[in-house]
Amino acid sequence: MPTATLELEQVTPNVFTTTKLRGCNPSFVATSDGVVVIDTPQLPTRAVAMREEAERHGPIRYLVNTENHVDHIFGNYWFRGAGEIVNHKALWDIFMDPGAALDPFEYALEAIPTDDPDAAGIVPDRDTYYEDPNRGDLVFTGDLEMTVGGTTFHLIHTPGHTPGQVAVYVPEERVVFTGDTVFSECQTWLMTSDIDQWVGALDVIAGLDVDTVVPGHGPVTTPAYLATQRSVLLEWTSAVAEAVAKGWSREETIERVNFRDKFGPVDVGQGYMMDHIQTLNAASLWDKFTAKRAPVR
Ligand SMILES: [Zn+2]
Repeated sequence: MPTATLELEQVTPNVFTTTKLRGCNPSFVATSDGVVVIDTPQLPTRAVAMREEAERHGPIRYLVNTENHVDHIFGNYWFRGAGEIVNHKALWDIFMDPGAALDPFEYALEAIPTDDPDAAGIVPDRDTYYEDPNRGDLVFTGDLEMTVGGTTFHLIHTPGHTPGQVAVYVPEERVVFTGDTVFSECQTWLMTSDIDQWVGALDVIAGLDVDTVVPGHGPVTTPAYLATQRSVLLEWTSAVAEAVAKGWSREETIERVNFRDKFGPVDVGQGYMMDHIQTLNAASLWDKFTAKRAPVR
C-alpha cells in the first residue's frame, strides 16, 4: 500500500500538524527523547502514515487524546505498540463507547468507502477492534504535567466541548493544542457541549503565554482567534435564547436560527453535514433552555 499523503505542516521547529485531512488536526511534538503524539487521524491509512512520520523523529513515547469524539481517537488503533496512551478519566470512561446513542465504530466506518477506500484491508472487524482499541494506559483526573526529553507538556482539563476535553500546552514551543475547544474558521459542533464551561475553557487557554494555537479543526491560528470562538458560542446561545423567549417551538427555532452563511464552511470532507450541524446545534440548545429542572431543596 502506498503511503498516504498527510500534507504535514511544520508549525515550529519541533511541532508538526496537518489540517488537511477529514477528521481532526492530528499533531506531534519531537523532543530530544522521543515523540509525543496529540490525537490520531480518523482515516486508517492516514493514521498509519502519521505514525511513520512521527517515528522519523524518534520513538513515540506518549499519545495524548484531547477528547472522546471518533475523529480524535479512532486512529489510536493503528498506534498500538507505540508508546503509552494518556487519557483524561472523563474521556477514558466513554472511549469509543459501544453504548453511545450514535455508535462510534459504525460512524468511523462510514467515512472509509468515500474518504479512505485503500483502508479496506487494514480495518478490523468490530470484535477484533474492541479487543484492543488502544485506550488510555495512563489515566488522570484534573491536570497533568509531563516532561519528555526536556520538553514540558501541560495537559489542562478544559471541559465544555466534551467532559474530558484536554488542552496540551507546550511552553518551550509557545504552542497550545486545544482540540475542539477551537474550531478555526469553520463551523462549530455544539451538540454534546456545555457552553458555559466551554467559555471558561477559552478563558483558561487565553491565559497561556503562546504564539500559536493548533485548533481541533481548521487552519493553525493565534490566540487572537479565541475571541472569535467565544463570539461564535455566545451568538449561538443568544440567538436560541431569544427564540425561546419569543415562544418559538423547537421546529420553528431549527428553521429560523442558523449560521450557515456566517461562521465559514464545514471542515474538510464534511460539507454535506452543514444542515445536520445547524439543526443539531439549534435543537440541542433549545432542549437545554426549555428543560424542566428538578426543584432545589
Ligand atoms: Zn473533532
